[in-house]
Amino acid sequence: MHWEAIRKETAPAVPPRLADYDRVRSAFTWSQARAELSGLPGGGLNMAHEAVDRHAFSGNANKVALRCIARDDSVTTVTYAELMRRTSRFAGVLRSLCIGRGDRVFTLLGRCPELYTSVLGTLKNTSVLCPLFPAFGPDPVEQRLRLGDAQVLVTTADLYRRKVAERRTSVPGLKHVLIVGPGAEGLPGTSSLEDLMSEAPDTFTVPPTSPEDMALLHFTSGTTGTPKGAVHVHEAVVAHHATAAYALDLHPDDVYWCTADPGWVTGMSYGIIAPLAHGVTVVVDEGDYDARRWYRILGEQRVTVWYTAPTALRMLMRATPRQGPYDLPRSHDLSALRFVASVGEPLNPEAVVWGRDVLGLAVHDNWWQTETGSIMIANFAACDIRPGSMGRPLPGVDATVLKQDGEGRVQITDGRVTEVERPGAEGELALRPGWPSMFRGYLHDKKRYEAAFADGWYLTGDLVRRDADGWYWFVGRADDVIKSAGHLIGPFEVESALLEHPAVTEVGVIGRPDPVAGNVVKAFVSLREGVEPNPDLKRELLGFARRKLGPAVAPREISFDQNLPKTRSGKVMRRLLRARELGLPSGDVSTLEGSA
Ligand code: ATP
Ligand code: MG
Repeated sequence: MHWEAIRKETAPAVPPRLADYDRVRSAFTWSQARAELSGLPGGGLNMAHEAVDRHAFSGNANKVALRCIARDDSVTTVTYAELMRRTSRFAGVLRSLCIGRGDRVFTLLGRCPELYTSVLGTLKNTSVLCPLFPAFGPDPVEQRLRLGDAQVLVTTADLYRRKVAERRTSVPGLKHVLIVGPGAEGLPGTSSLEDLMSEAPDTFTVPPTSPEDMALLHFTSGTTGTPKGAVHVHEAVVAHHATAAYALDLHPDDVYWCTADPGWVTGMSYGIIAPLAHGVTVVVDEGDYDARRWYRILGEQRVTVWYTAPTALRMLMRATPRQGPYDLPRSHDLSALRFVASVGEPLNPEAVVWGRDVLGLAVHDNWWQTETGSIMIANFAACDIRPGSMGRPLPGVDATVLKQDGEGRVQITDGRVTEVERPGAEGELALRPGWPSMFRGYLHDKKRYEAAFADGWYLTGDLVRRDADGWYWFVGRADDVIKSAGHLIGPFEVESALLEHPAVTEVGVIGRPDPVAGNVVKAFVSLREGVEPNPDLKRELLGFARRKLGPAVAPREISFDQNLPKTRSGKVMRRLLRARELGLPSGDVSTLEGSA
């Protein structure tokens, strides 16, 4: 904790949505948050109604909902009124195919306008949407279609041909494949979405929707094992809306860009539902990460609020070192940008400070999971930032730290858990169930779901420390924590220390079994372009880490690796580093970046 807090002394550009943390938290109730939404005209709550129709029926009809930038840089804008018509047509298409409440609709699409139409049209029809990441290979696609009981798949001719056609008979429940763009005629067993849409009416009355109706099925990222299917309901929109106000500081006039793909929960909750529920303009980039492209989009689109991930920030840091020169960001007008947030992995203090120096805005880390459905812990626009901390619980979120047993699991004695009272002591992060976007189950795995609860708490599987003022600090995942010579070591702390060395761009840290110490800390290090891996540098890095961390925590071994295994959403897969190191089987690699 040697980084100085970043103090918010100057008045923010707009009055923050959460100005006084303690006051807002003590006054907050979820029923008030629900009252900020409109609900269906006949009662009930439907995500797509909140995200689209209620704006289209209000003064916002002609406001731009989506600004979609294609790979070739052409821009398509869709107003709220147009989005209402398109999603109504899509819902009508489903209805004409006899797809109704609870039936599963999957998307396998890049970030094109039709993806957004399909997602929201499915929700209007009270069917369940499951997004697939478009770069998945045929195996993970088939696995998820089967596990998720897919009845409809929306995709392109090219993706269908490459990833689904040959496996179609293995997914017998898949009744309809709707093809976006040209090519359906040449593909037996598919239909052209455009043709079907042109026959559907552009009005659709959303059927009565219970807040408890299933809305979304999300597979987790597969960082620690086989991905799990988390079930979410329409009521989750209450949490999407409230948390986007508090943790992302969304205001009605914002131009908002979330870089996560809707194939992952961040790209759905905060790339589609939450910002549209606020009626803001959402920037959608179909292209892949590219430092120049991203700075250009931030500048040209006049993005005001930007939600991204540590892996993306680390790539930008590589393109624009903190020491300067800042030619790349300075060649774009980033003056509209007022708030930057990050999620998905621990945000190294170095990256928080990099944001302040290079973008002129410190990065606000926040924490949540596929299971929690919305942001649970965050650094807020109006509050000081403690670099390296993920912040404090959102209003309406009751968090605690639970004592662990000797095996690194939560200690449960006669059904009771013990809360860790001592500031700075480590334990498992747990949340009191009751917030609206809490997952309602793991698909087809009741046992696993039940095992995630104890003594009235939801156990997150992440280890944290809470300081005396209530800030939470990520230590590691319960599965990744290293026990070495009697110490419990969180890989994040070691990775963060090594990342401060100018030669280093990415790090993954694991425990390698050792007969004396139990485990020794081993770091896999990627180097900045042009830096030569050699024994001198290894010695230098070992010494650097030892000075920062002390001998008990510093890595004993370093290995250079320019291709750390990562999930497609950019998280270092320590379980694969460990499996490779120990010559063990790799386990599920369906979300491994670069796999077919
Ligand atoms: P799986 O559950 O399949 O192993 P996953 O946990 O990576 O995959 P997600 O639900 O996408 O799947 O990710 C949530 C996890 O990501 C959290 O439990 C936590 O470990 C990590 N995470 C998210 N945000 C942060 C953050 N701000 N700081 C540290 N870790 C974070
Ligand atoms: Mg997880």
